[in-house]
Formats: sequence, structure tokens, C-alpha cells
Amino acid sequence: MTSFYPGPSRLYDGVERYLRDAVAEGILSNNHRSDAFMALYKRTVGLLRQKLGVPASYSVFFVSSATECWEIIAQSLVKEKSYHVFNGAFGKKWFIYTQRLTPGASAHPFFPEVTLPVSGLSADAYDSICITHNETSNGTAVSEQLLRNVRKKYPNHLIAVDATSSLGGIYLNFMWADVWFASVQKCFGLPAGLGILICSPNALKRAEELGDRHRYNSLLTLHDHLKVWQTSYTPNVLGIYLLMRVLQSVKPIREVEKKLLKRYARWEAFMSKSSLPFRFHIANPEVRSSTVLTFHTTERIVKQLKAQTGKAGLLLGNGYGELKSCTFRVANFPALREVEITRLMQVLADH
Ligand SMILES: *Cc1c(COP(=O)(O)O)cnc(C)c1O
Repeated sequence: MTSFYPGPSRLYDGVERYLRDAVAEGILSNNHRSDAFMALYKRTVGLLRQKLGVPASYSVFFVSSATECWEIIAQSLVKEKSYHVFNGAFGKKWFIYTQRLTPGASAHPFFPEVTLPVSGLSADAYDSICITHNETSNGTAVSEQLLRNVRKKYPNHLIAVDATSSLGGIYLNFMWADVWFASVQKCFGLPAGLGILICSPNALKRAEELGDRHRYNSLLTLHDHLKVWQTSYTPNVLGIYLLMRVLQSVKPIREVEKKLLKRYARWEAFMSKSSLPFRFHIANPEVRSSTVLTFHTTERIVKQLKAQTGKAGLLLGNGYGELKSCTFRVANFPALREVEITRLMQVLADH
């Protein structure tokens, strides 16, 4: 089965070999205070800098998931009031998770079809801004220009970006925000269970100011351990090892992005020429995500297409949240292969 689910999704072909290597190399039996683990941590962070362009001044933490990052930000970085800008289910969930921990969280939803202008944000009364870069539930993304303009308009706010379904697939300019995070089961083509949290020097300054050390995953606690390339708990060593191997094998992010955008253009061409029984859920091409495609149709046709693709060994992603019955989703992640996409298009067109 080839999984087009937008996470977990198709694994990189190399993962099977990397798994065997991890066992053979003995890294999985090394404890996390060992030199071998510390070297692995350091090397993986080095590769994130080299392949994704994570700035040398930004710190990289390994945690368990993107959801955990929502909590770490709420606990260790939001002073009192966070401003949540979102247009879909993941951004909303982030807001709800934050509100449970810091009651000053405030929701600022926007319509998925609009290109959000920076003038649409009024975050002066807040200390943190939370933005979902790629909304996996409805297949939208915010532009780099918006992130740049938010940074310019709010130079002293803490800006946090959920890049769970874009980091590793799309070029991101890390300078436009203080906190970036993702989990590896989306664009990294890996099994779930590892989150990547990237923090600017200003984010760490904010953490120092707040002084939260109440939890095992408080940012300052994580940072104390990072200084010696360790973690505050026994981490997912296998996940980190697999990430290291995948990063070694992938091209620099600009090239990965180029490939994804070319494939996305193939999807656009596919959608424009045929008389298909489904359409892009998002009509405005400016705000459409290039890593997660969401298609809209009737409940009956969604069922039919799932059965049809399933028979061909291709797994479609379910619709998410309130879009569950009338949409289906297709990942455009780097690990998917050209021939697999061609095959999926054939089966979908065969309706
Ligand atoms: C998948 C996803 C999450 C949740 O990731 P977990 O690893 O399950 O915590 C959060 N935000 C976005 C945008 C996602 O796509």
C-alpha cells in the first residue's frame, strides 16, 4: 500500500535499511548520557542546519510531537496573552490547548479562501503570536511574505509557527519567527514519535525571563540538557537516528521544494483539464498548500474513490474534522515517488 495520507505517510525507501543499521550499530542500546548519543544528537542538528538552513544561532530540541510543542510554548514562552491566527482545525486545536494552560489565549480565525493581509492582525495587546504555516486540515498555507510582514510589524513579540506539514518539504526562512516546530511523520517520510522544536535566541531569552522549570519538558530544562547534547528524559533514539539518516540522504531544501512545486503543478494541471467528480477544496490558488492537497466532493464519491484507490494499493487521506465526509486529502510529501503520483492520478481519473 502506498500511503498518500498526510501523516503518517509513505516512508522514504531507505527507512527499512536504516532500521536494520540502527540495530546493528548498537545505538539503540546506548543510554542517552553516552558519547554515542551525544554525537548522534549533535550530528543530526548539524544536518538540520546544513540541509534546511536552520541558523547557527537557533537551538534545536527533540521532543515527542508537534502537540507537545504547543504545550511547551504555552508553558515556557507565552507570558500571559497569545494571539492565535488560524483558518482550520490544527490552528484551532493549538489555540484550545494553549487556552487550557494560559487563559489569556485569544482566537483570531480567518476565512480559508483569503490571502491574510498583515493589516488584518491586531496583536498589540498580546505578547505572543501563534501562526499555523501549513493548515493540514484544509490544505492552505500562509505566504512567506505574511510571515516577513508579521515579523516587521511585531519585532518584539514572540512569534511561533507550526510548520508540522511543511518543514522538510518547503523552504522556510527561520529569521521570520522565534519558534518553529514539526513532527517527522509528515515531510520527513519517517514513522511518528519525534517532534523537532527550533528556537531563536530571543525565544530562549523569553524563557529565561519567565523562568519556568516546573516540568520535565520545560524549555529551560530542555535547554540545560541541550548544552551537553542531551535530553531531559530518555528520548526516541531510534527516531533521531532515522532522522539523521534521512537528512544525510536528502537534497538541500531549495531542491526538495523545487521538486514538490513541480509535482504540485502536475496536480494543478490534472485538476484543470479533466471532468473529474471532485475539485480543489480551496478555490483560491494563492492560499493553497503545496504539500497537502484537499479535494472536495460528495460523501458518496469520497467513499467510492477510497474504495477504488484502495483496490489499486493507494491510500487516500481522510478529510479532517468537520471536513471529514466531504473531502479527502492527498499528501505531496518528498518521499512519494513520481510513478506513484502518476498511478494515483490514473486511478482517480478512471472514475
Ligand atoms: C500533524 C499536525 C500536528 C500534530 O502532530 P503530532 O505529531 O500528532 O503532534 C500539529 N499541527 C499540524 C499543522 C499538523 O499537520
